[in-house]
Amino acid sequence: MSFTKEHIARYSRQLILPEIGLPGQQRLQEASVLLIGAGGLGCPAALYLAAAGVGRLGLVDADAVSLSNLHRQVLHATADIGRSKVESAREKLTALNPETEVVAYHARLDAATAKSFLPAYDVVLDGSDNLATRYLVNDACVLLGKPLIYGGAVQWRGQLMVIRPGQSACFRCVFPEPPQPGEIPDCQAAGILGATAGVIGTLMAQEALKLLLGTGQPLENQLLTYDALAGAFRRVPVRRDPDCAVCGVHPSIHALVSIDLMSCSHKEA
Ligand SMILES: [Zn+2]
Repeated sequence: MSFTKEHIARYSRQLILPEIGLPGQQRLQEASVLLIGAGGLGCPAALYLAAAGVGRLGLVDADAVSLSNLHRQVLHATADIGRSKVESAREKLTALNPETEVVAYHARLDAATAKSFLPAYDVVLDGSDNLATRYLVNDACVLLGKPLIYGGAVQWRGQLMVIRPGQSACFRCVFPEPPQPGEIPDCQAAGILGATAGVIGTLMAQEALKLLLGTGQPLENQLLTYDALAGAFRRVPVRRDPDCAVCGVHPSIHALVSIDLMSCSHKEA
């Protein structure tokens, strides 16, 4: 594409970064990111990706906006209560940057929708709110070879990891077995501060931009943890597991199937 005066002005503060420039901006314009969940993590991530000029954003979420979402799901406003989250998000992101195409999937991610949605995108961001979706997104990305950025947040804590299939540890390498029901606190029961989700969602956008630009060191083979009360980040080294069920030497998962983890507690991100 050719850059107009308006493009140059809109992106001027990032165009002067040596890691971006016009070639980098062109890469972002041609890039696409699929966000699973338009909630506490997906909202800030989508805002920064649209603002940076990523050409196409897909948003997957089956939920409607509720009053208790608004303290952390920063794309939605009081007047949006009852509306589809993806439609509310699409409206705000298009208003922010009309150059970004926003595709709204008012759907729950399952094996069929994952197979249908994921192939058209360069990078996937998982800001989902339940464990079944987390394992499904991981398996889909490994099987399709799509880079995945995993993020999670609850209370005053968050974590983040970049997964490049075939190159770095996947979600199953680190968490081979789903936790027992009640083992992991969810946002509904345990609470969350909006800004905590904002920090992790923003870092997810940052890692996606680095991958799309091919610059910097991706946060792979490490779990970045954030403790907001202590004001501390920590990097926990992780490694690929040769016995991993999906990316190991002899994987037992070869095709995408919806995972029945309904007995697991549902986490809201
Ligand atoms: Zn793995």
